[in-house]
Amino acid sequence: MKKNTDAGAKLLLITIDGPAGAGKTTVSKVLAERLGYKYFDTGALYRGVAYEAKKNNINSGDDAGLERLCATLRLEFIRNEKGLRLFSNYFDITDEIRTPDMSMIASAVSASMIVRSYLLSLQKELGKEKGAVFEGRDMGTVVFPAADVKFYLDASVKTRAIRRYKELSGKIDSLTLEEIENDIKLRDENDKNRKLAPLKAAEDAVIIDSTDLEVESVVDNMLSYVQGFLE
Ligand code: C5P
Repeated sequence: MKKNTDAGAKLLLITIDGPAGAGKTTVSKVLAERLGYKYFDTGALYRGVAYEAKKNNINSGDDAGLERLCATLRLEFIRNEKGLRLFSNYFDITDEIRTPDMSMIASAVSASMIVRSYLLSLQKELGKEKGAVFEGRDMGTVVFPAADVKFYLDASVKTRAIRRYKELSGKIDSLTLEEIENDIKLRDENDKNRKLAPLKAAEDAVIIDSTDLEVESVVDNMLSYVQGFLE
């Protein structure tokens, strides 16, 4: 497999969309690493807006408030010794945005046209340089419709809830598996049924069901498909 550090290697823009807990973040990181690409977690950007909206007492239906917020908001990905971190107005908010509360607020603000168009230009800017893996909900459909390779990663609701439960255990002690499953179902419902950029597979996306697959198998499947675009 060629890496982008190899002279003459072709650089691709790869998108991975799918519902919460399908394994997009883990898979994107490993895939990007194996290819020598950068990876971008666009859900973190929606969480960043959610974090700032909550801090400023702006609710998801308050267009004027969200407009004011986005006008001065500076969201930036910075890679440091801790990995890929999200900074908002120069503060590292990476850990604060990973709570169930932030997940639900992110899902709510993500239905706003103001928030989506603010983040659309930010994401397009980040995608100007190829050699990147972008994960989210509308990467292959709206943000990068001309991406070189598109994947849609799915898994059963039960499996996704168990993965999230394990991820959160030790950090959030008040949530049961059932509560997490309900949150995921609600977010799926919001994300799939919103008018703007609903969660769905792009027509030209390769759909992978990760319910019974380990991360390495998913990445190997992806890499063998990607290989065809690098030759
Ligand atoms: O991927 P993650 O769970 O961090 O995303 C949080 C929320 O952000 C999602 O539930 C979804 O509503 C929203 N989102 C989106 N479009 C993206 C990425 C995330 O609407 N590209």
